[in-house]
Amino acid sequence: AALSYDEELLHKTILVGDSGVGKTSLLVQFDQGKFIPGSFSATVGIGFTNKVVTVDNLKVKLQIWDTAGQERFRSVTHAYYRDAQALLLLYDITSKSSFDNIRAWLTEIHEYAQRDVVIMLLGNKADMANDRVIKRDDGEKLAREYSVPFMETSAKTGVNVDLAFTAVAKELKHRA
Ligand code: GDP
Ligand code: MG
Repeated sequence: AALSYDEELLHKTILVGDSGVGKTSLLVQFDQGKFIPGSFSATVGIGFTNKVVTVDNLKVKLQIWDTAGQERFRSVTHAYYRDAQALLLLYDITSKSSFDNIRAWLTEIHEYAQRDVVIMLLGNKADMANDRVIKRDDGEKLAREYSVPFMETSAKTGVNVDLAFTAVAKELKHRA
């Protein structure tokens, strides 16, 4: 059977969360299947990567935007959120402040994003077991409170990285 593939249908997907949580590393791992150690904080501007994910034999095209540098609240513009169909919201399991800030990010998202935006909460750096300060259970509880799906990921080992983007693509496909 021929695959149905709408070349025009690009789903804008954005990565948000505090600086240092691993947004750029997650995208690099998803795109290139590798971990490049060191911070990407020197990157200027906002860049995107197009990726095609296959869901139930259908191709879902994601245009994944990475916020670079200025991740402080309010610096991510209204327009950036407005066009987004999906959003991966990251904290770092070794950073309490990045987890505590998730509520503020969600407030901002609910203010600026489309009402039906697909949201996935990710606890990144799951490989850093010795430095963990946020329990998986804490992530799950917060996700339940906001009715969003949740996973722990590692941009370093790649654990759950494909799964997270595929889950987002699946949800987008079901809503289409
Ligand atoms: P961003 O500011 O959210 O884009 O975060 P970066 O991708 O620049 O990552 C910040 C720092 O955390 C860098 O030193 C990365 O190498 C590191 N990092 C990112 N993801 C992981 C991960 O899953 N595991 C580990 N151990 N380090 C990570
Ligand atoms: Mg970055």
